[in-house]
Amino acid sequence: MSVAHPVTIYTDRVERLRAALHAQNLDAILVTNPENRRYLSGFTGHDSGADSAGALVITGDAVTLITDGRYIEQAATECPGLRVVKRDGQFASTAATAIAEAGIDRLGFEATHVTVALRDDLDAALAEKAGQGRVSLAATRNLIESLRAVKDGDEIAAIERAVAITDETFTYLCGYLRPGLTEREVAHEIERYMREKGADGMAFAPIVASGPNAALPHAVPTERAIQLGEPITIDMGARYNGYCADMTRTVCLGEPGPEAQAIYDAVLRAQEACEAELAPGMSGKAADAAAREVLEASGYGEQFLHSTGHGLGLEIHEDPRLSKHATEEQKLEPGMAITIEPGVYVAGWGGVRIEDTAIVTADGIRVLTTSHKRFGLPR
Ligand code: ZN
Ligand code: ZN
Repeated sequence: MSVAHPVTIYTDRVERLRAALHAQNLDAILVTNPENRRYLSGFTGHDSGADSAGALVITGDAVTLITDGRYIEQAATECPGLRVVKRDGQFASTAATAIAEAGIDRLGFEATHVTVALRDDLDAALAEKAGQGRVSLAATRNLIESLRAVKDGDEIAAIERAVAITDETFTYLCGYLRPGLTEREVAHEIERYMREKGADGMAFAPIVASGPNAALPHAVPTERAIQLGEPITIDMGARYNGYCADMTRTVCLGEPGPEAQAIYDAVLRAQEACEAELAPGMSGKAADAAAREVLEASGYGEQFLHSTGHGLGLEIHEDPRLSKHATEEQKLEPGMAITIEPGVYVAGWGGVRIEDTAIVTADGIRVLTTSHKRFGLPR
C-alpha cells in the first residue's frame, strides 16, 4: 500500500517524469490515465468505465491532485504531502484555474487518454482563466508508460505475490477440474479462490476455453461442459496491490491424443527456447522471433496467431511488446516484467497456449510462474 511508503518512491518517479518533460520543453503535464495517476501519486481512486476519479497536474515544483468530494478523504490518507484540490463544477474549469495559477506556458496531456471533448473544454477554460493563447496544450504519448516499463523493488514484490496467488490457484484447479463442469463454473471458481487467497481482484477476466473454444486466443467462458481428452486453456492472473500476474496453462483431462501432444510439445519447446534466449538489450522483435522461429520450424508458424508476449504491471498489457510489430529501438531492460506466451490454434479442434510471467535480470530473465507444464492430467 502506498500508505506504508514514505513519499520517496513517488518523489523519485515524479523527478524522472520531470526530466522527461524538460526534454520535451513542457512546463507541466496533466495526468488523466488512472494507472499513471496511481504510479505517480499512490492515489488508488478509480471509477469503472470512463474514469472520473481525478487528474494530476505535475509542474516543476508541485504535484496537485484534482478530485471530487467522493475521493478527498481517500486521497488525504493515501497521499500525505500531496496537494489536493476539490473539483468545483466542471473538471476542465477547476484544472484550468490550477494551471493558470501555476503560470504554465506549455502543458502536456496524455493523447491516448484525453477525449476530444476534454481537450476542447480545457482549451476554452484555459482561454478564460489564463487568457487567450496563453497556455498551449501539447499531446504527449508514452511519457509515463515508458517510465513504468522498468519496475522497482516494491513493484516486483507485488507482481511476485500476484504470481504466487495465481500458481496456488492453478495447483488447486488441477484437483478441482472434472468433466461436466462448465467453463463459466471454472472461471467463477478461479475468481473465488484468488480472492480467498488475498488477491485484490482479477488482473483480467479469467479465460477458460475447452475443446474447439480453445481455438480462440481470447475466448470468453461459456456454458460448455469440459470433457475428457480435449485441450482446456486457462489464462488467468491475480491482482495484488494493483499489480497483475498473467499465466496460461493448457491441460487435458485424461490422455491427450498423439497429435494434440505434438502440438503441446511444439508450443512448450518454443517457450523454453525463447525463455533461454531472452536477455537485456534484445529488441521486442527479436524476443518475438525467438519463440516464433521454433513454431515455424515445427510447421505451426501460421497457427501462432498473436505476439509472443507483453509487459505487465499496473495494467495487464504494458510496454515492452514482444512482437514482430515492436520497434527495433525498444530493448529489454533489467527490471522489466514480461510474459512469454506462444500458442498454436487449430479451428475446430482447439488450441494450446503456455504463458509465464518473468522479470528481466542483468543477464537473462527470472521466470516467476512455477506451475507445472504437464499436458495430460490423469483422471
Ligand atoms: Zn494471459
Ligand atoms: Zn498475456
